[in-house]
Amino acid sequence: MTAAYGNRIGGASLSAGTTFDSVNPAHPTEVVGTFPDSDASAVGDAVAAAAEAQRRWAEVPVPARGDLIARAADVIAARKGELARLVATEAGKILVEAGGDVQEAVDMGRFVAGQSRGPLGTTVPSELGRKMAYTTRAPIGVVGMITPWNFPVAIPSWKVFPALLAGNGIVLKPSEHAPLCAERFAECLEEAGLPAGLLNVVHGHGDPGAAIATHPGVGAVSFTGSVPTGRKVASAAMAVGPKVVSLELGGKNAMVVLADADLDLALDGALFGAFGTAGQRCTSTSRLVVHEAVADELVSRIAERAAALRLGDPTDPATDVGPVIDRWAGERIVAMVDRAVAEGAELVLGGSAVDVDGCEGGTFVRPTVLRAEREVSIARTEVFGPVLTVLTVSSLDEAVDVVNEVEYGLSAAVYTRDVNEALRAVDAFDTGIVYVNAPTIGAEIPLPFGGTKHTGNGFREAGARGIEQFSQVKAVYVDYSGRLQKAQIDTNPLP
Ligand code: NAD
Repeated sequence: MTAAYGNRIGGASLSAGTTFDSVNPAHPTEVVGTFPDSDASAVGDAVAAAAEAQRRWAEVPVPARGDLIARAADVIAARKGELARLVATEAGKILVEAGGDVQEAVDMGRFVAGQSRGPLGTTVPSELGRKMAYTTRAPIGVVGMITPWNFPVAIPSWKVFPALLAGNGIVLKPSEHAPLCAERFAECLEEAGLPAGLLNVVHGHGDPGAAIATHPGVGAVSFTGSVPTGRKVASAAMAVGPKVVSLELGGKNAMVVLADADLDLALDGALFGAFGTAGQRCTSTSRLVVHEAVADELVSRIAERAAALRLGDPTDPATDVGPVIDRWAGERIVAMVDRAVAEGAELVLGGSAVDVDGCEGGTFVRPTVLRAEREVSIARTEVFGPVLTVLTVSSLDEAVDVVNEVEYGLSAAVYTRDVNEALRAVDAFDTGIVYVNAPTIGAEIPLPFGGTKHTGNGFREAGARGIEQFSQVKAVYVDYSGRLQKAQIDTNPLP
């Protein structure tokens, strides 16, 4: 009998009429849990619960909020094995990567807890005597969060921990592909002592997400997902009034390999970057931009190693590549490869779905390598699957043009032994994240995460700026002179 879960609202578990099943992508007949397919009314209830809890939470000193977040990180760390197994079962990530997903939440919790003892603003000398001038950060109130399935524990943690530290109440709408991961994440926070109503989780498809975007009681919306959905969320939110909307969207990340690169290192990086998480990371290496002098050798070595990757059940430690999230994703990916070939790309490896023994009904796409010209559509569009498109160039300048000519700007990598070339690339790549001699994936919590151009709208998650996203700056003047002092006037009288 499959467990049924409710929406988590005001500390209670509430059902909402119709339901949907979350399934194991490696075994789609296996239901992981049944969840409410919520509508706007559940979001309304969740916003009311968050607003009420937030009023009390705002009174809690920031270091005490941090202590609670540290305890939550400890609970997640203690439950890491169980949570990683759930991520593998519900989102199809292989176990080691699922462990990384959970660890990111632990790291985020600890990092944010540390920020609770750090500065929240700046002080400046006032131009008038006996007057203080400083900034601090105030909560927004209720913040809405809409998250994707591919980092089902990490991404909620990137948003929830800084938002809590900033003193907000939260309504989280996790992906319909990974609702139990969000449920367990919220449970860990409850176990750590989070007051009821501060973190409300509303399940469902697009409707509750859209309701969060337009609810007048939600002061800020933080969205991570695809570009088309992000555009919808932003325009819906803006249609009802000015609102802070942060968008973390897709990528078309490139790894540049120059002629002098350590090819063994580049080979390992390309394989992990392109086929890790079956290519379903926003930072996955989707393009290999390689110097013509080493292209043939590198491509044939990648194809040989990629052909040997073992597809299978993500919970089996011997599996290298798990399933894609569902059948529709598999069909979309294969159709993109077919179109690339029709447009003139050369299929070096893979390009089709494959049945995997013991995983009946799961959609597995063979690791795929294409060689293409820059104009082919797959060289510019996010695939979100295990497909690496190789583009050949004859110089760093040409490589930079290729990296920058797409609409996305999330992550880019350069492999070279020449420090001058490496740092020229760092300067020239128009992306939010740059790696030198490492693949396009592998971000760490203390640095900001996000991208340029259509990848986002200028916000960054994680890092020291994380808390800024979920708070508003307040300028404070305290006059303790006991008399009326006039800025700009007292000290600079008219001549
Ligand atoms: P998606 O856009 O399909 O869904 C994201 C979330 O939006 C889900 O919770 C979904 O239910 C919800 N949603 C759907 N329609 C909605 C609507 N009309 N209004 C409000 N919410 C709605 O994305 P996905 O398939 O879950 O995730 C994959 C995408 O996310 C990829 O494009 C990937 O690059 C991107 N991503 C970006 C980052 C980043 O930090 N930049 C991180 C991870 C994933």
